[in-house]
Amino acid sequence: MPKKKKTKIKFLPGRGITKLISVPDQLELDRNKHLEYYQDLVYQCGKCGTCRTVYQTKDWPRICPSGEVGKFESYYLGGRNLLTWALTSGRLKWSENMAKIFFHCTLCLACTQQCQIPEIHNYAGEWLMAMREESVKQGYGPMPEHKKYTEHVEKEYNPYMEKHEDRLKWLPSHVKLTPNAKIAYFVGCTSSYREMNVAKSTAEILDSLGVEFNILKDEHCCGSPVYMTGQAEKAKLLAESNVKIFKDAGIEKIITSCAGCYRALKETYPNKFGLDHGIEVLHLPEFLLDKLNNEELKLTKALNMKITYHDPCHIGRHMGVYEPPREILKKIPGIELVEMGRNKQNAWCCGSGAGVRSGFKELSGFAAEERIDEAKGTKAEALVSCCPFCLNQFKNNIKNNEIKAFDIAELIKQAI
Ligand code: SF4
Ligand code: SF4
Repeated sequence: MPKKKKTKIKFLPGRGITKLISVPDQLELDRNKHLEYYQDLVYQCGKCGTCRTVYQTKDWPRICPSGEVGKFESYYLGGRNLLTWALTSGRLKWSENMAKIFFHCTLCLACTQQCQIPEIHNYAGEWLMAMREESVKQGYGPMPEHKKYTEHVEKEYNPYMEKHEDRLKWLPSHVKLTPNAKIAYFVGCTSSYREMNVAKSTAEILDSLGVEFNILKDEHCCGSPVYMTGQAEKAKLLAESNVKIFKDAGIEKIITSCAGCYRALKETYPNKFGLDHGIEVLHLPEFLLDKLNNEELKLTKALNMKITYHDPCHIGRHMGVYEPPREILKKIPGIELVEMGRNKQNAWCCGSGAGVRSGFKELSGFAAEERIDEAKGTKAEALVSCCPFCLNQFKNNIKNNEIKAFDIAELIKQAI
């Protein structure tokens, strides 16, 4: 295959950009460089406002929960770009309010999908994260709620104020674990302590398929809630302890039912923290779709339900996984899958991620209600996702049982 040529961009004088730079391919981007690295990329933003709406559809629905609540340009990507440029070039000084603006964002990256400037489309997520890290270094971040749960994660390895010794309380005695298995089910904190039915269903599905797997009782928080709130050094410590636990147990493959854990283990550990663990990481639907296609997994019980599917940001836009959950749902007998208007790369965020649910309740509730209303508009009986954090967010925000919420693992378990 011919080697892909790097794009040479000549920046025009008079627009504040003066250097010739070589734009790296996405995977070559060095996330550990100083923020100045992003300065010329950021300044390419033309402040056109396209990142406020899904411009590809005829009705141009809104797409940025933060901007809709903040109601000021600083809360949309265009404004964040300008602030990033001004802060990194010394034209503005960091302050508590500046930090708040960068934390008032679900890091859903729906805005980046609307921007047609390739460097912003590809890399804006990197500088939005880098600005959080910088605000922590400057002493203005993270938000008090993030500090509180991080202290608990450091002691008990979960952000839910729960005891580490209770992590496996949900595990039914009939599920057979294999002590020396090469496959681990990484449960994650939300399924361990809040949405235990996701963990139980996943373990029971794997057990019913005869998969030899183990759950490592010393599994720690994957670090995502710590990393996504700008505390990369603390998150790296969690990542290192998890990788040690996997390596000591001889794990070669990890299955996870959580979108946040999936992104952390598969992408953040090697690419941000340099922990090249070499372990295959699969999100549950990816693992099960293979089993379904080779007829090891048989879905035979009809569920007779019209459903709609919500793409979690951490497996969708962050990792590009859109189809496996849909393919599985369509193969469950009696399931009719209808799409919401904003789906796949244009999906509206559930409002729980990146520390928003703990730090910015108004923004979080607004995003959840908007998604629930959109789901109700499809006339579906249930809103289905494949992330326990999205599920928990929907369950906490659905009023008067107007629509049900499920994780895909719960439906698969019922259909076996
Ligand atoms: S980020 Fe892109 S879409 Fe948004 S204002 Fe800037 S150029 Fe326009
Ligand atoms: S990441 Fe999501 S919440 Fe943040 S600016 Fe972009 S669209 Fe808005």
